[in-house]
Amino acid sequence: MFHCERCGIRFSTGALSGRRDCPRCKSRDGVTVLLTWEPLLAARTAAALAEARPKPERVAVVPGP
Ligand SMILES: [Zn+2]
Repeated sequence: MFHCERCGIRFSTGALSGRRDCPRCKSRDGVTVLLTWEPLLAARTAAALAEARPKPERVAVVPGP
C-alpha cells in the first residue's frame, strides 16, 4: 500500500503498476510527489485477508484405518 503525503490518497501496489509517484497530484497540480510505502498497512490488509479465508484446520481429517 502506498500513501501520498501531499493529498493523502492511498494506492494499492497493483493499482500503480510499478509507478512510485502520485498520479492525482501529477494530473491536478503537475507536481511529482513520491509515494510513501506503508508496510504496516499492507501487513494489516494481508492479515485481514488471511482471516477471511477458511482455515486449513477446518478441513476434516479422516483418521486412518
Ligand atoms: Zn497526491
